[in-house]
Amino acid sequence: MTKVKIKYLLEEHSKHKVGTSITVHGWVRTLRDQKKFAFIELNDGSSLASIQIIADSDLENFAEIVEKVATGAALSVTGELVKSPGKGQNIEIKASKIKIVGLCDSSYPLQKKRHSFEFLRSIAHLRPRTNSLGAVSRIRNALFMSSHKFFQDRDFLSVQTPIITASDCEGAGEMFRITTLKEGEKGSSKDFFGKPAFLTVSGQLNAEAYALSFSDIYTFGPTFRAENSNTTRHLAEFWMLEPEMAFADLKDTYKLAEDYLQYVLSELLKNHHKDLSLFNQFISKGLIDKLEHVAKNPFEVLEYTEAVSILEKAKKQFEYPVKWGIDLQSEHERYITEEHLKKPAIVINYPKDIKAFYMRNNDDGKTCAAMDVLCPGIGEIMGGAQREERHNILVEKIKAMNLDPKEYQWYLDLRRYGGTPHAGFGLGFERLIQYATGMENIRDVIPFPRAPKQIDF
Ligand code: ATP
Ligand code: MN
Repeated sequence: MTKVKIKYLLEEHSKHKVGTSITVHGWVRTLRDQKKFAFIELNDGSSLASIQIIADSDLENFAEIVEKVATGAALSVTGELVKSPGKGQNIEIKASKIKIVGLCDSSYPLQKKRHSFEFLRSIAHLRPRTNSLGAVSRIRNALFMSSHKFFQDRDFLSVQTPIITASDCEGAGEMFRITTLKEGEKGSSKDFFGKPAFLTVSGQLNAEAYALSFSDIYTFGPTFRAENSNTTRHLAEFWMLEPEMAFADLKDTYKLAEDYLQYVLSELLKNHHKDLSLFNQFISKGLIDKLEHVAKNPFEVLEYTEAVSILEKAKKQFEYPVKWGIDLQSEHERYITEEHLKKPAIVINYPKDIKAFYMRNNDDGKTCAAMDVLCPGIGEIMGGAQREERHNILVEKIKAMNLDPKEYQWYLDLRRYGGTPHAGFGLGFERLIQYATGMENIRDVIPFPRAPKQIDF
């Protein structure tokens, strides 16, 4: 018997026709016992919609089914596709055989009523069976695949940069230290690597080495930050997509960022309308219109200096006062995109003193070739820059941040041996998913979130 994913049965022009027999596997959403027959809603995660199964009382195990099968149980159902008289679906399955694969008792926490996202976080192992987390997971998968497709189609080489590192990319704290030293043992020379080691906060430095061999590359993997920010936009473990291009400048990077975002959002709108509709209806009214608008219209590019003057003119009391030289806070980023522009913005040329050492100094002596992509509702979703390719200036910048140039020898080599202008950005993948779904909390767009005091599952 052909085993079929439920989404293929529900497609408008399904190749599975009425009258044919198929087998589906899935989990029971509801079972209604009507004495002479029972209706079962079965969902296998392949689509938002479930398929209706009709179990007739002449099935050999009918009594067992109505007695034992409850919401959450796993079934394997074989039967004939029949036209559905009900509204909302055009096809259902008249079961000829129902195999109970896994029973589910009444303590199953996902009974029919709607649950808060907070509660669902406490059952992270079961929440993918809900409509909302199911849709988030499919959208995450779609964005993951179209991200690879975007870069592969443009001949970017996919590079797997390391997760364990000895260097702190940003020259700041916030890293998770890893060690094999036992409690009480001291001295990093006795440690596994013979020196302190950490989980990476970004693949960028290693990515630069590959860009300077292949021109266009990207790395896409997990990154870790021990920042103690209990916000709806920060995780301790998140995925970052980092393209890096040689023979490229700041403008090439923000063009790439815009093309990328428009591409993945267009693909999502084309192929995942049903899942997006759920968010459009229940989570973020107007989401689909918003995404369509963003996918079609050019982003606003503005200088940091312009952004500051917009904020200074704003008739709004900010918690963090605005003046040239400050790092933009989330409230500032949101004012610019939500209230001033009402669309995403690319802010460029930030003060060099607030940005990382590897960003290229501009000729004005005050700014560097940095860019952030800001989105309404989220704030920063990407951060990027043209990298400092001039060896002597980079050494000065490393020293100015109180870092040791010796630790960056290999990184500096890239400037001595065929160095070129190069540039790239880092996209927080979960922030993109938040933006695409309208989901409020970043912990609900990653399967098993890691955040301060949150590591069960
Ligand atoms: P923020 O100011 O929002 O903390 P950042 O300036 O520290 O971000 P970058 O170091 O530029 O961020 O990292 C690149 C991207 O990674 C950011 O644009 C953001 O989308 C994402 N990102 C950064 N920190 C986190 C985090 N803790 N959880 C999830 N995504 C993050
Ligand atoms: Mn941060």
